[in-house]
Amino acid sequence: MIFDIDKIRQDFPILQQKIYNRPLVYFDNAATTQRPQRVIDALTRTYTEYYGNIHRAAHFLADKATEAYEQTREMVRELINAESREQIIFTKGTTESINLVAFSFGEAFIQEGDEIIVSEMEHHSNIVPWQLMAGRKGAKIVMLPIDDDGRLQIEKLESLISNRTKLIAVTHVSNVLGTINPVKQIAQIAHSNGIRILIDGAQAAAHLRIDVQDLDADFYAFSAHKMYGPNGVGVLYGKKELLEQMPPYQGGGEMISEVKFAGTTYNELPYKFEAGTPNISGVIAFGAAIGYLQQIGIENAAAWETELLNYATKQLLTIPGLRIYGTQVEKSGVISFNVEGVHFFDLGTMLDKFGIAVRTGHHCADPLMDHFDIQGTVRASFAFYNTKEEIDVFVAALKKVISMF
Ligand code: PLP
Repeated sequence: MIFDIDKIRQDFPILQQKIYNRPLVYFDNAATTQRPQRVIDALTRTYTEYYGNIHRAAHFLADKATEAYEQTREMVRELINAESREQIIFTKGTTESINLVAFSFGEAFIQEGDEIIVSEMEHHSNIVPWQLMAGRKGAKIVMLPIDDDGRLQIEKLESLISNRTKLIAVTHVSNVLGTINPVKQIAQIAHSNGIRILIDGAQAAAHLRIDVQDLDADFYAFSAHKMYGPNGVGVLYGKKELLEQMPPYQGGGEMISEVKFAGTTYNELPYKFEAGTPNISGVIAFGAAIGYLQQIGIENAAAWETELLNYATKQLLTIPGLRIYGTQVEKSGVISFNVEGVHFFDLGTMLDKFGIAVRTGHHCADPLMDHFDIQGTVRASFAFYNTKEEIDVFVAALKKVISMF
């Protein structure tokens, strides 16, 4: 055991609950994680001690709130090793971060007939924004396929690149398969062909040490609510020379330098992309979540989650008729599976009655479901606060449920 799991679990009030009179087993961490008391306290403290609208007013509360908000920006910069704070844009989540790039990068750099490569394992939020942009600009989406074991066929990447390819959009970690993609290698291939890369880090940021400079990412997007932080907060990292050339995504307060009816000039980075009043308390509490995660140690968390993954995988594979989707060695703590003859939705609903929270359905990855010719799966996803005992409870309940069908 790398850390004191009992002590860690005490930090998360929601985990102390019983559901249907059974201890909660929360295995839906890929959808959203739970928050430690420290994050909940940071939200409360913001509202009780120093809440004011940031950046604009010359009074004490606004100054304090601004300072705390900007401190989180610095913490994010450090967390992902960005060169400067101007490259950290707060959004409301990964989805908004990708939409921002699809719109603004699209406006600045995409012409009719250009191409964007998107992988087959993407979440809808890294497909649909590109389709919308392609529809607007007359561009084309090209799909990078996967193998049946959940590996990206990156050996095919070069052959999919044409002289019209402008960007590759790929997830760092698949929310369904758990596959950790070789995004650094993909970035190298992209850059050697003069192409930009956007990495969807929604499933990576809480589980892997991210270094945007080492990855040489042009854009990197992630969400606070999957990192033990508040919902409604996300991050977009971008290379400065690109962000500077991209037009604003939304217009409003804060993102301007000067507004005249004859024309408007825009604020400097990152404010050019932060129109309106942001999620002030959420961003501040995200700082508390990052602090907590750093204290646990992302490497420690990842090592424990891998142990849980291996422990659960081994047990699940003893169940007759159970198939796991995504069997790569480089895999994060996500297990998607189906059991022959039992609908995934029935499995999920029955597991809930045992106090076990898993996710069922297409996981916002329809093209991936199509690849496997399925409608959906059951997905169990782990966080550092999960235990092997919980996996035992889960596997025993699953066996019981299967025996009922
Ligand atoms: N990308 C991936 C891989 C995800 O798993 C998710 C959410 O599950 C998203 C993007 C979207 O994140 P959000 O809903 O926080 O914007």
